[in-house]
Amino acid sequence: TYVVTDNCIACKYTDCVEVCPVDCFYEGENMLVIHPDECIDCGVCEPECPADAIRPDTEPNMEVWVEFNRKYSESW
Ligand code: SF4
Repeated sequence: TYVVTDNCIACKYTDCVEVCPVDCFYEGENMLVIHPDECIDCGVCEPECPADAIRPDTEPNMEVWVEFNRKYSESW
C-alpha cells in the first residue's frame, strides 16, 4: 500500500485524489489518508503529490503511518 505522511499537513492540493483509480483517499483531521486495504499499489498518486507526502509502505519505518492512515480512513 501507499500511505500519506506528515508532509501532507496543510497542503491544499488534491491532485492525488483525482488520479486514484479506486478512490481510496479519505480526509483525516488535517491531512489526507489512504485506506491501506483499498489501495491497489498502482503508484500513480505518488508523482502527483507536490509535497512528496505519499510514500510506499516498503520504505523504512512506515508501519506507524500505515496504522495512522488506516485509523483515519476507517473513521468514515
Ligand atoms: Fe490510489 Fe494507486 Fe495511490 Fe493507491 S497507489 S492511493 S490505488 S492512486
